[in-house]
Amino acid sequence: MSTIVGISTAPGIGGIGIIRMSGENTFNILDKIFVPKNKQPIEDIKGYTIKYGHIIQNDEIIDEVLVSYFKAPKSYTTENMCEINSHGGNLIIKKILEICLKNGAEMAEPGEFTKRAFLNGRIDLAQAESVIDVINAKSEREVKSGIKQLEGFLSKEIKEIKQDILDVLVNIEVTIDYPEYDTPEVQEKEIKNMLEKIGKKLTKLEKSFDNGKIIKDGIKTAIIGKPNAGKSSLLNAILKEDRAIVTDIAGTTRDTIEEFVTINGITLKLIDTAGIRESKDCVEKIGIQKSIEEAKDADLIIAIFDSSKELDKEDLEILKLIKNKKSIILLNKSDLKNVLDENNEIFKNTSKNILKISALNKTGLEELYNKITEMFNLNEINLDNDVLITNIRHKNIIAKAIENVKLANKAILDSMPIDIIAIYIKQILDDLGEITGEVVTEDIINEIFSKFCLGK
Ligand code: GDP
Repeated sequence: MSTIVGISTAPGIGGIGIIRMSGENTFNILDKIFVPKNKQPIEDIKGYTIKYGHIIQNDEIIDEVLVSYFKAPKSYTTENMCEINSHGGNLIIKKILEICLKNGAEMAEPGEFTKRAFLNGRIDLAQAESVIDVINAKSEREVKSGIKQLEGFLSKEIKEIKQDILDVLVNIEVTIDYPEYDTPEVQEKEIKNMLEKIGKKLTKLEKSFDNGKIIKDGIKTAIIGKPNAGKSSLLNAILKEDRAIVTDIAGTTRDTIEEFVTINGITLKLIDTAGIRESKDCVEKIGIQKSIEEAKDADLIIAIFDSSKELDKEDLEILKLIKNKKSIILLNKSDLKNVLDENNEIFKNTSKNILKISALNKTGLEELYNKITEMFNLNEINLDNDVLITNIRHKNIIAKAIENVKLANKAILDSMPIDIIAIYIKQILDDLGEITGEVVTEDIINEIFSKFCLGK
């Protein structure tokens, strides 16, 4: 494989910049451009060491740097690698990159270092995919679940299921080779039992996706309510919490503003309906209209009412809207004289969670967060022991594998010949190989790594 080079630090001015090189010729190239202070010959430098010295071009010092050496196979990619720690200015980093290119390195594509780690067999595809999850993580839980996957938790689970499948296939082979060994009935029963066990494990993994998705993408939360109920104030109160980590993601697929906020380890993907209303400067009815649109595919609706006023027709529309959705009713403006409380006949009939808050005074927020944690069973997700699926690609593959378990079962019920049943079972094995990467097309691999950042 060629020797690649890329800038691993984010663009912009920083204390240091890191230029990474990987491939057979790494040290030959480095030898041409780097002079260690003690002039130690490059072949004497051991892996896992750092040398201080200068990057040189045409006898001119370009920068004062530290270089880390990683000798194959003990490196991120398993190839010869080095990381040049230069000063963190854009110009200097680019200059060093250029010098590496001039001396024979090729520009790395996004994710190419991690792709090599995968292609060279150091990590499997699921582990490689988790690298990007860790980098993009918005909450501590997400980092933790990404690290678990990187450490191979999911891969281990998949490997165990694959072993179960191999056991079934061995069982079938024995039947084909030695038909006198067992009666077909005993055989079928055994295979069915084994398939049931495999199906259960796969279903558990598939179900974990809902929790995994919440950890990864956050709880998609729409705050809805009539104009002046206090949507913006609530949003501001949440976003300005001392403990909130706010990530702005503007301009997503629809014309909404989405903001990620992580509080107590819960990520809420807030759909800013209030922002839309304000920015477009339309009033009244549009509040409800927008609410309807936003509520459609939210995981959670926070319906906010002004408790200093009686409910009106528009409020009733909102209650209708949340009827069959996971939702919380907030009675806002609890600091004012309340005419509306949870004992109101209309609320009593909703069997919804009702909380009093004052968005203005920021009271009642803690109860709101606790309620959300409770509603999504977030305290019950055990990140230390549970294997969670967080990636839609994995979820789809597992769903396909479950289908093939069903088909294999049906083939047994339909008394199909054993070698036909074996074909379905082998398919389950292939399906799972797509997660770990043994059975995967180049297109899929390229698509996965194209989502990575440069230099990773
Ligand atoms: P939105 O139209 O639903 O986004 O409502 P806003 O957040 O813009 O609030 C409308 C008005 O109600 C503003 O004047 C806010 O200051 C006021 N308001 C919001 N929440 C509270 C609250 O908890 N108590 C009081 N007294 N006023 C509030």
